[in-house]
Amino acid sequence: MNTNASVFYGENQFSLCEIPIPQVKEDGILIQVNAAGICGSDLHIRTEKPPFPVVLGHEVTGTVTAIGSKANEAMYISGGPLKEGDRLSLYPTVTCGRCRSCLEFGNGAYSVCDKPFGYGDWFPYQGSGDYPRLEGVPAITGGFAQYMYLYPGTYLWKVPEDMPDERAVILDPLAVAVRTVELAQRCPGVLENCLDETKTALVIGDGAIGTLVAFYLRLLGVGQIVVVGGREERMKTCKELSHADLLLNYRTQSIEERCELLYERTHGMGADVVFQCVGTGQAFREGLQLLRRLGTLVECGNAMKPSPVTFDPFEDLCAKHATLVGMTVNTPHAFHKAFTLLKDRGKGLERLFTHSCGLDGLAETMDRSSDSSYMKGIVYPGGGMRA
Ligand SMILES: [Zn+2]
Ligand SMILES: [Zn+2]
Repeated sequence: MNTNASVFYGENQFSLCEIPIPQVKEDGILIQVNAAGICGSDLHIRTEKPPFPVVLGHEVTGTVTAIGSKANEAMYISGGPLKEGDRLSLYPTVTCGRCRSCLEFGNGAYSVCDKPFGYGDWFPYQGSGDYPRLEGVPAITGGFAQYMYLYPGTYLWKVPEDMPDERAVILDPLAVAVRTVELAQRCPGVLENCLDETKTALVIGDGAIGTLVAFYLRLLGVGQIVVVGGREERMKTCKELSHADLLLNYRTQSIEERCELLYERTHGMGADVVFQCVGTGQAFREGLQLLRRLGTLVECGNAMKPSPVTFDPFEDLCAKHATLVGMTVNTPHAFHKAFTLLKDRGKGLERLFTHSCGLDGLAETMDRSSDSSYMKGIVYPGGGMRA
């Protein structure tokens, strides 16, 4: 049996292909992909040339169509055991659990394993033992396909009946937001504590990640939330989902004006914490400028190479006694927190999806990511244009 897949094979090049569905082994699961989110990283990756044709899409929710007899023991499942017909969301990385990095940082820590496998990416599965490997390429290891094969060692969450696919598929970006915020959390009472009901958080970015960071901060009870954005429609959605206290617009307000408005609300001190969620070096530079003394800046937007900017180790770091944290490593634990939030508090987050398509519309939808209304795209591999 074959499945349709959108195969990425060169800079901005996708083609709709038929790929054979492998036999499901005793420790594997086959899912029918119900929905896959288009990540900001997909928009970056597509400008590169992959080493071999690959199916992208790591923000996935699907329905179990075949499950091996030992799959429930071979996976890490929250809310399981799983059976045919159940829906699930997944953690998109499988780590080996045996290398020095896995031993030091824990099994499942994203991007530190020496031999990681990423769904929707081009790292081949290398689990030890008699596990299925990437047999032939392309293989259905990404969500931009009608079916997807799940390997042993994958972390999975069973999706409850009342959670729509459009919410279940937000697990990955919400986990990124949760982890980004986690990285700024300190023990209450320490001088550098930057997140409590007395503090002001500045979120740079009105895209999906910036909005989810602001949404999560509101749930945590942070004092004031200020968001910097630039596209009116996105800022409106961000405001509605996060109840941000103040929106600043980098397109219509100069950095001096934004600074002044932030200072008005912070006794002339600046933000206690900055969550930088935009993929430009300039946004990081401005984040440093708007950060107060003893503040913390978490850099999450520049996961890909931005244009370089100047950085003064004295002014930007020591003189402020600032804490600067880079974010790329995520954990199943952050995903678990995010899944709990989706279940209990996530109603309405489906609104992040402004553009939808089937497999044949993937490249075109990605092209539309610069639309003023674009927040996030969703792919329905089974067809249908629901959003
Ligand atoms: Zn993602
Ligand atoms: Zn490892």
